[in-house]
Amino acid sequence: MRQRIAVAGGGPAGLTFARVMHRHGHPVTVLERDPGPDARPPGGTLDLHERMGQLALDKAGLLAEFQALSRPEGEAMRILDTDGTVLRDWQPRPGARAHPEIDRGQLRDLLLGALDVQWGRGVTEVEPGTPEGVLVRFADGRRETFDLVVGADGAWSRVRTAVSSATPHYTGVTLVETSLDDVDTRHPGLARLIGDGSMAVYGVNRGLVAQRNSGGHVKVYAQFRAPLDWHTNPDRHLGLNRHADLNAGPDADLDPGLDAGLDLADVEAVRSSLLALFDGWADPVLDLLRHGAAFVHRPLHVLPAPHTWTHVPGVTLLGDAAHLMPPLGVGANLAMLEGAELAESLAAASGHGDLDEAVRAFEEQMWPRAGRWAEMTMAGLERLVSPDPAEALALFDEVQPS
Ligand SMILES: Cc1cc2nc3c(=O)[nH]c(=O)nc-3n(C[C@H](O)[C@H](O)[C@H](O)COP(=O)(O)OP(=O)(O)OC[C@H]3O[C@@H](n4cnc5c(N)ncnc54)[C@H](O)[C@@H]3O)c2cc1C
Repeated sequence: MRQRIAVAGGGPAGLTFARVMHRHGHPVTVLERDPGPDARPPGGTLDLHERMGQLALDKAGLLAEFQALSRPEGEAMRILDTDGTVLRDWQPRPGARAHPEIDRGQLRDLLLGALDVQWGRGVTEVEPGTPEGVLVRFADGRRETFDLVVGADGAWSRVRTAVSSATPHYTGVTLVETSLDDVDTRHPGLARLIGDGSMAVYGVNRGLVAQRNSGGHVKVYAQFRAPLDWHTNPDRHLGLNRHADLNAGPDADLDPGLDAGLDLADVEAVRSSLLALFDGWADPVLDLLRHGAAFVHRPLHVLPAPHTWTHVPGVTLLGDAAHLMPPLGVGANLAMLEGAELAESLAAASGHGDLDEAVRAFEEQMWPRAGRWAEMTMAGLERLVSPDPAEALALFDEVQPS
């Protein structure tokens, strides 16, 4: 293949695409905005499904290495009531490999392998249809042209504007993430509470989820329904009211613990706000917040679903750039599967086929599947963070293996 192909973004989508292309002998220029692989914390743990993320790794020739690194025991899932009672405790069957967990950093390093990533190359704009090809402009002022530019640059994609005017919108649900280190020795009680995998507690319009990563590291996600500006605006935080009930009016029982002007960088102020929000929940559960280190604010945004566009020769999208959806265990899996599928289609087209036809066929396959997942995960989010906590439990009963 003599075409000049670039992928913007070195996340699960972009790296899987580049790795599968590399396996088929086709070089790809990987353009990543971060200055280096360890420029920021890699994030939490991902469960890779057999027919999605794991299939993609198989196509990249990396399945055996993944199996050596991943944690099948991490499939364990426990649900507690707000008073600490264990409501459900699913344990993986011996030998189960349906969706083992892997740390994002481990997955990134596995995919990186010998790939030659161009770090510190933030794309600002992509202009298809110039006489030299698809023009890419970079944050440092440089420009380069390619025959195909694949946008795998995540939620706030810069490549996306070349094919679509869609932008992400806020779901009404926010996550605040914190983490604990060395949990088995420093917090053995919490380690037992969390178990080998994940633990979740759901209340009215809010939940607390703890996920074990490798090496005794635990990520904790406080999730709640609130306006995007919940930390700045005192009048609009009904969703945060710890006593909120379904029939309460907008001014009912506002929570004094959540004042205006909360500084999200102030660890202790965020901690007290969250403790006020989850006030009344069992002490061991609240210890997840009491012992958490820094807090990271992650309001959840999504793209409209299904998100499709009129095909533009020379540009396409993968992963979150194409179909940002709520984080219900699918986004990275789809991103990787798409990366592998696009690479295989291009490799198959090389030599005899039409590169653009291969991209067009890939898009036709991606859109309906991603649209279905986006709708399912949006409906799932509505049930997980809902006025009726029984909905969250019912959702897990539907999706967990019996
Ligand atoms: C809290 C949380 C938990 C999740 N858990 C799971 C899970 O268990 N399972 C699952 O399948 N999914 C999960 N997801 C979703 C998953 O993280 C995403 O769907 C997945 O990371 C998408 O991969 P991507 O490669 O498309 O985008 P990203 O992972 O966002 O990668 C995009 C890359 O592009 C780079 N980039 C951005 N802008 C530019 C630019 N202008 N130029 C060049 N490079 C750029 C970024 O630095 C980044 O490296 C979770 C998400 C969240 C928030």
